[in-house]
This record gives sequence, C-alpha cells and structure tokens, in this order.
Amino acid sequence: MAGVAWHYVLKFIITGDASVGKSSLLVRLTDQRFLANPDPTLGVEFGSKLITIPEENKVVKLQCWDTAGTESFRSITRSYYRGAAGCLLVYDVSSRQSFLNARSWLQDVREHADPHLTCILVGNKVDLCNDGPEGATPAQGQRARQVSTDEAELWAKEEGLLFVEASAKSGVNVEAAFETATRDILDKIRRGV
Ligand code: GDP
Repeated sequence: MAGVAWHYVLKFIITGDASVGKSSLLVRLTDQRFLANPDPTLGVEFGSKLITIPEENKVVKLQCWDTAGTESFRSITRSYYRGAAGCLLVYDVSSRQSFLNARSWLQDVREHADPHLTCILVGNKVDLCNDGPEGATPAQGQRARQVSTDEAELWAKEEGLLFVEASAKSGVNVEAAFETATRDILDKIRRGV
C-alpha cells in the first residue's frame, strides 16, 4: 500500500434523535475522546478519519457528517444525503422513545438517500445500562435499559440494517460500527452494486 494515501473516500451520515450521542460518536471516532457536557452550540458537523480494512488491503477515508442540531427541525436537506455511502442510525439504549423514533429517521433516509446506502443501527450508551438479571436495580449512575439487544437486532434484520451496540463514552464498538459498515460498502463496490 506504499504511496497510497487512501483507496476510497466514503461519505457517512449520522442520524437519529437529539441527545442520543451522534456528535459524541463522531468525536470518539476522530478524536478518541469523550465530552460529558458537550456544548450544543459547538455541535460537531464534520469529521474525517482514515481506517484500514486489512483483509481487503484497503485504506478508506471516511467523511462523516453529523446532523448537528437540525434533528429538532427535521429540515435536513437533500444535499446532506447526497453521495452518502453509509449511514449510522443512532438511538440511545436507555431511551425507548429514541428507538421508536428511529423508524421515522430510517424513513427519511430511504426517501432521500441512495437506495444502495449501507445503514447500521447503533444502540449507543451501553455503558449506562446494568445488564444484570431482568428487573435488577441499576447500579449508581446507571439507567435501566429500555431496549433489549434482541428486539433491536430483530428490527434491524427486518429492515435490512446492520446492527451494533456501542458507547461513545467508553469507546466500545465505535470504530467497529464504522468498520462493519465500510466492509459492507466495499463488498457492494466489489460486486458492482
Ligand atoms: P447528539 O445530540 O445526538 O449529537 O448527542 P450528544 O453527542 O450531544 O450527546 C448528548 C448527551 O449524551 C451528552 O451529555 C453526552 O455526553 C452524552 N452521551 C453521548 N454518548 C454517550 C455514551 O455513550 N454514554 C453516556 N453515558 N453518555 C453519552
């Protein structure tokens, strides 16, 4: 791979309800850090990151766009979706409402984005949940999980979405979410889809 800065540039969009952690996932991906109290007025809108897919021997430049506050107005324009190869559809595992609302975000994506776009459903904030026995009292600082892994996985399967649970706070599965989607996109490119 000597001399090659990257083989592909892929545009990703990050969508979902306000406060599910979209900006935090982007900051974690590009900057390896987490802000407990991010200033909403400084919402990150764009970040770029080089990732390597070793089995494909490919370096991919991800250009990621966050909705940065526009979610409350539902005024995301077509240009936001244009040219996107991948989408992270994010909900918060401790907010049932954000999972239910993911349906309408997916509808938006289907309406405006390329039909071949790869979409990964991301259940964020797994660090908050006590995954002990059903009905167990959450430990201090934790919230009850409101969306089970099984339920989200099933819905993702029905909709043809990839799926992962992640945490922008701990960093678990953040790069993996982008890598999984990127592998799927490279696979589509190879198959000429
Ligand atoms: P956005 O509106 O979807 O971009 O959400 P933000 O990234 O601004 O995050 C909203 C709030 O959730 C902030 O207080 C973040 O610090 C917090 N947050 C984001 N991701 C996580 C996470 O993985 N775990 C925890 N515990 N908090 C998170």
